[in-house]
Amino acid sequence: MTTFDAFLLTKHDDGTQHLDWTEVDEADLMDGDVTVEVSHTTLNYKDGLALTGASPVVRRWPMIPGIDFAGTVRDSSHEGLAAGDAVVLNGWGVGETHLGGYARLARVPGGWLVPLPAAFTPAQAMAIGTAGYTAALCVLALERHGVSPGDGPVLVTGATGGVGSVAVALLAAAGHEVAASTGKADEAGYLEALGAVEVVDRSTLSEPGRPLGKERWAGAVDTVGSHTLANALAGTRYGGTVAACGLVQGMDLPASVAPFILRGVTLAGVDSVMAPMPARQEAWDRLARDLAPAALDAITDTRPLADAPALAPDIRAGRLRGRVVFTVA
Ligand code: NDP
Repeated sequence: MTTFDAFLLTKHDDGTQHLDWTEVDEADLMDGDVTVEVSHTTLNYKDGLALTGASPVVRRWPMIPGIDFAGTVRDSSHEGLAAGDAVVLNGWGVGETHLGGYARLARVPGGWLVPLPAAFTPAQAMAIGTAGYTAALCVLALERHGVSPGDGPVLVTGATGGVGSVAVALLAAAGHEVAASTGKADEAGYLEALGAVEVVDRSTLSEPGRPLGKERWAGAVDTVGSHTLANALAGTRYGGTVAACGLVQGMDLPASVAPFILRGVTLAGVDSVMAPMPARQEAWDRLARDLAPAALDAITDTRPLADAPALAPDIRAGRLRGRVVFTVA
């Protein structure tokens, strides 16, 4: 029996879940034509939900959590991928229905892997992770719907979080005027260093609001959902677009149709998990073009993977700033 070390989530008969660092038999890895030696992984909001059991993210037991990983191909029968290639994985149900990245080894279909962009090390690719790649998908969605630099402020909610931090940096680098909404008043300097020109107190957006408000935003990247998304829509200018990707305040959308039918506002949904490969490639190309290594360093906290269980409740509670990278080796 050949084994590798991994975090394994198991569910007991009483419904409780347990997380252990343990040895897993390689034979238990799931279907895939590429086996990857994982060097780095990361902590996303969804990982926080999975590790704490706060939401039914895990739909196969036992599960190796971790929705992202970066590493080196060990074996491949997939065309175009060979031993020694550096690769990145984001989503596709990894860590949810397919054994994930909190392990020294992972096996996946090669079609799920993105070649590591030349601009990034494996650690930097995980500093970006699903959060950063989703931020890029959001920025591209705004642009696709006509939000251009010079149109006016673009709101980013949950701005000190993983998606928010990268969205602020990418929008500023592309020439947008960024208004960053946060609940952390003492992080204004952090957000300004990433390129925000205005810091908005998130309490001004999180309570029930009017169907239409003052036209403030040319567009928005919303990671928060619920009343915050409703207020972002109500405050978006004629013809603007809101890219919605998150639900940290709630999954509900207590809004009216007024912004859509009276101001032609577009609500653009963004999903990273099943996004097709061309969209992923476009997002990684944008990250490589616009995310300065210094900005990435400023948002990144590097930890050993052993710290994952302790940090999971923190990301759930919105206490973290920026991104956490885990070293696996
Ligand atoms: P983080 O925990 O890193 O950031 C979330 C931020 O939201 C917090 O840092 C905080 O920022 C703010 N926040 C937390 N709680 C609340 C609250 N109750 N009300 C308002 N704001 C709050 O998470 P991520 O950035 O990684 O993810 C953000 C969201 O995006 C999550 O819901 C996640 O599931 C979703 N997501 C969706 C993806 C998709 O494919 N659609 C992919 C990746 C993420 P501050 O203090 O600055 O306000």
